[in-house]
This record gives sequence, C-alpha cells and structure tokens, in this order.
Amino acid sequence: MSNKNRKREEFDEFMGKEMLTQKQQAESHMRYEDTQIDERILRAVREMGYEEMTPIQEQAIPLFMTGQDMIGQAQTGTGKTAAFGIPILQKIDPDNRNLQAVILCPTRELAMQAAEELRKFSKYMHGIKVLPIYGGQDIVRQIRNLKGGAQIIVGTPGRVMDHMRRHTLKMDDVHTVVLDEADEMLNMGFREDIETILKQMPEKRQTGLFSATMPKPILELTRAYQKDAVYVRMTPEEVTIPLIKQAYYQVRRQDKEEVLCRLIDYYDPKRALIFCNTKRMVDELTEHLKARGYEAEGLHGDLSQHQRDTVMNLFRSGRAGILIATDVAARGIDVNDVEAVYNYDVPEDIEYYVHRIGRTGRAGKTGRSFTLVVGREAYKIRDIERTCHTRIKERKIPSAADITSRKASKILKEAVHVAQQQDISRATEYILEEIALGEYSAVEIAAAFMQMKLGDEIEDIKSEKFSFDRKANHRGRSRDGRSGSRGGNRDHYGKKAGQRSDRGRGRSDSRNSHYAALRVKTKKQT
Ligand code: ADP
Ligand code: MG
Repeated sequence: MSNKNRKREEFDEFMGKEMLTQKQQAESHMRYEDTQIDERILRAVREMGYEEMTPIQEQAIPLFMTGQDMIGQAQTGTGKTAAFGIPILQKIDPDNRNLQAVILCPTRELAMQAAEELRKFSKYMHGIKVLPIYGGQDIVRQIRNLKGGAQIIVGTPGRVMDHMRRHTLKMDDVHTVVLDEADEMLNMGFREDIETILKQMPEKRQTGLFSATMPKPILELTRAYQKDAVYVRMTPEEVTIPLIKQAYYQVRRQDKEEVLCRLIDYYDPKRALIFCNTKRMVDELTEHLKARGYEAEGLHGDLSQHQRDTVMNLFRSGRAGILIATDVAARGIDVNDVEAVYNYDVPEDIEYYVHRIGRTGRAGKTGRSFTLVVGREAYKIRDIERTCHTRIKERKIPSAADITSRKASKILKEAVHVAQQQDISRATEYILEEIALGEYSAVEIAAAFMQMKLGDEIEDIKSEKFSFDRKANHRGRSRDGRSGSRGGNRDHYGKKAGQRSDRGRGRSDSRNSHYAALRVKTKKQT
C-alpha cells in the first residue's frame, strides 16, 4: 500500500466520521449566491470576481458555519482562506470590540495575504477589523493597533505568543481558532508555540485546521485540541492535474543544469518556478542561472524577511521571471500565471509533487511541469503516477537546434504579426529598392534579417558536435521501474565519451559545445 493510502486509512479509522467522497466532490460547483452567506460578503465576493466555490469551499464553508470543528485538507491555491475566512466573518459580532477569532499562519507573508483576503471579504461589513500580527514589525505599533480593537487577528505563532505574554492580546472572547497551513507550521518547528497558544484559548470554542498535507503530528494536535472534528479532504488529482502537462527527463546528475536551461530556453515561460530539495541547492542553482544570464531569484527559509520580500516583489512584478525555491519557502505563495514548474530535484514526498506542480495550471489555464530524473529516481515517477492516477510522460531533451528552430518560428510569428498590425509600407519600399538592384532576392533579405535576430544561434547549430538528446530518447519507455538503470546510463553516455575520444577532444571541449546554446541566452539577457 502506498504511503499516502496508509495515511488515509489511519485517518479514516481515527476519525470514524463520515468522509466526503470523491464523487461528492465532483458534482457541479455551488455558487456563492446559493448559500447562507451574508449579503455583504456576497457583494464583496462578486467584486472580487469569484463565481463558483472551489471544492474545498463548497464543503468547508457550510460545515464551518455550523460551528463544527473540522480539518480541511486541500492543496495550495484551492481557496482555503475563504473556506474558513467567510464563516469566521459571519460569526464576528461587530459591536464587540474584543478579539473573537485567531488565525495562525506559518509566515509573515501568509499572514499578510490572509489578512488582506479577509479585509476584502469584509469590505461592506462595518465595524469589523482584521489585523495581521507578525514578527519583524514594530511591536509597539502593533500594540497600539490592537488597542484600537481588532476582532480578528491573523498572526505568526511566535509573535502571537509574545503578545499573549505581554497581555496585549486578550483571549476571553475568542470563539474561533484556525490553524492555517498547519503542516507547514509544524515543519517550521512551531508545534510548541501552537500548543501554548491553544492551551490558553477558551475551552468553548470552534477550532479549524487547514493544511495541504496530513502528516501524523496533525492527528495528535487534532486529538488534543479539537472536538469531534470532521475531516474534509479534497483529492489533489481532481483539482489540478488534468490541466497540467507533465513530463520527465532522464538525465545524468552532472547534466542537470544544462538540461534545465535547455528546457527553459525551449519552452520560454514568462513565469516559472524551479523547485530544489535543499536550501543549498537553491543558492547554488540561483547563482549559476544568474551567471548564465537568467533573471532568476532564490527563495528559502534562511533569507531575512527583507530579502524574502525583495525576491517576491521581483517575481510578482515580473522583473525576475524565474523563482527557485524549496518546498517550505514556496508554500502558500500566491502568484498566478506561473506557466511552468521545474522539479530540479524529484521531490522527496509525493504530496510535494502535487503541490509543486499545482502552482501552474491555475484558473483553468494549462500549465506545464518538468521533472529531472537521475538514474533510479525513475521509480519515484511511477509511484507518483500510481498514487495520483496521473500520467507523466518521458520526453526527449530539446537539442540546441530544437531551441533555435523554436526561436526562429517565434521570430517569424512576430514578423507576421507586425505585417498584419502595423503600417509597413515604408519598410516595404526600402526592401523593393534593394531588390531592384538585383543582387538579392526577397527571401535572401528576409533570411538575413532572421539571422540578425537569431544572432549567434545559427552558429550554435553548426557547432553542435553531438546530440545527447536524441540518443537519450531511444531508451524511451523501455525503462520499467527496475531500469532507469545505471547500466542504461553508462551505455548511452559511454558511447558519447567514445565519440569524444575518437575525435581526440578533451572533455572540456565537448562540454563547451554543450553550453553553446546557453551562451546565447546569456548574451541576450545581460
Ligand atoms: P490556499 O490557502 O488554499 O493556498 P488561497 O485561499 O490563498 O488558497 O487562494 C488562492 C487564490 O485563489 C487566491 O488568489 C484567491 O483569491 C483565489 N480564489 C479563492 N477562492 C476563489 C474562487 N471561489 N474563485 C476564484 N478565485 C478564488
Ligand atoms: Mg492558504
């Protein structure tokens, strides 16, 4: 039995509660209008452009409104904030200025995001104040803001505890507590803080726990701090996977960076996320990609809050098209229009995979995911396919020539667009004058323009000594889990090494031709 299934069974057994099945989830989506939601919230929701509820909202909103303790599991980007935020807003008594609801989030960024979302929902509800409370912000100012009377706080555990110690947060009237991104808070070592906070909450309260994954410690928190919680689980495959084209590439470890760059060049996404398994790898890869001329920024837990903000602003605004991150750092970051997700490392946990690729293909758009697989890691791909009932295709690595021809067709498309949309009569005159001289045809002149646009890349096609891509592909789907074999690798790349020595070329020389396509990118972007 897969890990995930085992976890599920454990949960089902523990809960002994009615579970919401996939079938129920698949039925058509509820509209906000058709619910008991307050008219003022509905108005705000309409303004925000939401029409249908997301699956987790459909299940969680009516349930949470009944006052029931619950656990909501759904992957990142599925609208969990509204799932608990709307019911909370409905429960707040605006005439009572005391604190009534506490939402805990793992990071300042997430706290701010969630607080902002709640403010939007409550735009037409007068007298409701939502305050984010996080470390790094001047505590004196926070205290002043709290004194102004906030009914809802969205805070990071450390800072919330601080305020509790200082008695600047009074919990007497708190009737609702939510742990948002609970798994991540546990990952980040907030367990003790969370427990300290929960222990000081009024006994009579509603407790919600929202999370993308369900590791064991969450069960323990549930046992200790929730009453008869109902578990609502959205299966990730249903939410996003059909919209994402997933591919994987069998590569040698030392070729990973090269292959990644080719995939970026070939698909040329406007906004891309690259995931690594470690902070160190994030740093290293960021540095290397920057050196190659890519506008890439790295994000991980060791950055200061200021650095994080800078990186996120660059990525959001599009000044950096590539964000390289660890799973933890990327959690909950809400950026739309991510066109591609690259798994530089195969994730250690299947749920992480679903999570990572769920960052693309949002809002009905199709996205792409690319996973680099070294040697035996191919079995992990099979695992993911089985567990998520999805298909991840092995693909061939684009060659430098593939990349160039793709660029050429893009340039042609642009040219056609200009011909259609702009007045090109003057330019046409210049060309006709040149043709009248009789030395060159229109085709030759067009080709020369193309060459100018492509720059050195035409040269790269010529200088490409060998293509590790096409051969790699021959191994194709012959791998069956057992293989992904070292033998296969040695075989394939052994040949390559042979070619090199046949020509009496040194290793570094061959590598240069590998990198040829990338130098172009470097030149262009810097
Ligand atoms: P999660 O907490 O599950 O990661 P969020 O609550 O941050 O997800 O929501 C992700 C994005 O989806 C946000 O930009 C949010 O505004 C948007 N969103 C949430 N609910 C809906 C909806 N029903 N329709 C359209 N967009 C929505
Ligand atoms: Mg969230």
